[in-house]
Amino acid sequence: MNIAIIGSGLTGSLAAISLAKVGCRVDLYERLSDEELLNRDRTYAITHSSRKIFEKIGVWSDISPDLIPFQYLNLIDYELNKKVQFIVNDLIVEDRKYFSVGWIAEHNKIMFTILESISHIDNINKIPTSVIPNTNNYDFIVVADGSNSITKKKLKTSSFQFNYDQMCITTKVLLRGCNSIQAYEILNTEGPFAVLPLGGDLFQVICSQSLKKGSNTMKLPKSLLLDYFSTILPYGIQPDTIIDEPKSYPIKFRLNYSFHTGKYIYLGETFHTFHPVGGQGLNLCWRDVESFTNIISSPLLKNNKFFIPLIYSISRLIDVLSISILTDFLVRYSRSNIKLLFIPRLFTFYILKKSKFLRKFILNIMTNGL
Ligand SMILES: Cc1cc2nc3c(=O)[nH]c(=O)nc-3n(C[C@H](O)[C@H](O)[C@H](O)COP(=O)(O)OP(=O)(O)OC[C@H]3O[C@@H](n4cnc5c(N)ncnc54)[C@H](O)[C@@H]3O)c2cc1C
Repeated sequence: MNIAIIGSGLTGSLAAISLAKVGCRVDLYERLSDEELLNRDRTYAITHSSRKIFEKIGVWSDISPDLIPFQYLNLIDYELNKKVQFIVNDLIVEDRKYFSVGWIAEHNKIMFTILESISHIDNINKIPTSVIPNTNNYDFIVVADGSNSITKKKLKTSSFQFNYDQMCITTKVLLRGCNSIQAYEILNTEGPFAVLPLGGDLFQVICSQSLKKGSNTMKLPKSLLLDYFSTILPYGIQPDTIIDEPKSYPIKFRLNYSFHTGKYIYLGETFHTFHPVGGQGLNLCWRDVESFTNIISSPLLKNNKFFIPLIYSISRLIDVLSISILTDFLVRYSRSNIKLLFIPRLFTFYILKKSKFLRKFILNIMTNGL
């Protein structure tokens, strides 16, 4: 099959490798140079669903040395003063042998390995432009040009969308008293606050705040920003030094009403953009890639190409909807200080703490999707 992919971000690039490995001829259209693609300062949480995709396409052994594993995921509710810890034993049996609840990846390292893999695959043709000269040359056009997709606008595909009254502030911090195999998701009334290990004493802090408060926080000198972090970090953990320039971006919710338009198939952030709480975003993008590849390579559909877009849309419905609802619920849950909700919140934490079954169930959805 001949496939065009628009956009060579982490979704489009992985789709190129994955589709090429099942025998498709892929033209990968990207307007940025490799250097520009590498030059993004982002940190991702990687789940077992992504690990399985990497293994399937044969790049896990190249990527895994650059990943920082964590063995404990601590969920803390500050309003209730309660904590639940997810551990390796809460994973399903086949995931436990990796001794890690998940991994943390820095953008430049993971993008470099993926671009390297692409350069060794003959049936991927990189085309440095955003214009596809003749769309009739392709059986399908994978649209992976990001959350502000121009292609989607051209095709007049509309989305359900709203802006959270929140921004995400992210920076690298040296922490004292924090173990490098621990990750934290702290729910407090300003919004979720994540601490992700980057090796040794270095951690990525990702904090959500209201737009108003966040823009003031961004103006703080680093010493005061450290003071602010110390008010949120769990007892015993002290922030020492901020080692980069803090960055911020607004947070939005966007989900396409339609997952394809004719032979144009939406993957990744073009298809869905959610709050970064829970570190689901990129993993969900890569599960789109896996679903589409599985469908394209199905022998049953070889002579029934017409059904492929529809089957892709159906196959992604439950996973995408459930993650969108779960992440949105977590944001609203953490920001709500309605006293009436305290009892169900306390009950949820009590059950999570006591019931291994529930912890397993939740962790499995977060790490493997539905
Ligand atoms: C500012 C910002 C910071 C973020 N930080 C984090 C973070 O710290 N942690 C985290 O987990 N997630 C983060 N995210 C989300 C994360 O980056 C996405 O989940 C991930 O990048 C999805 O990849 P994608 O390939 O779908 O989209 P993108 O990464 O946006 O890639 C789209 C690609 O398409 C290309 N393109 C666009 N238009 C065209 C065109 N017309 N023709 C050809 N190419 C085109 C672009 O140049 C780009 O390379 C962040 C997002 C943003 C916007």
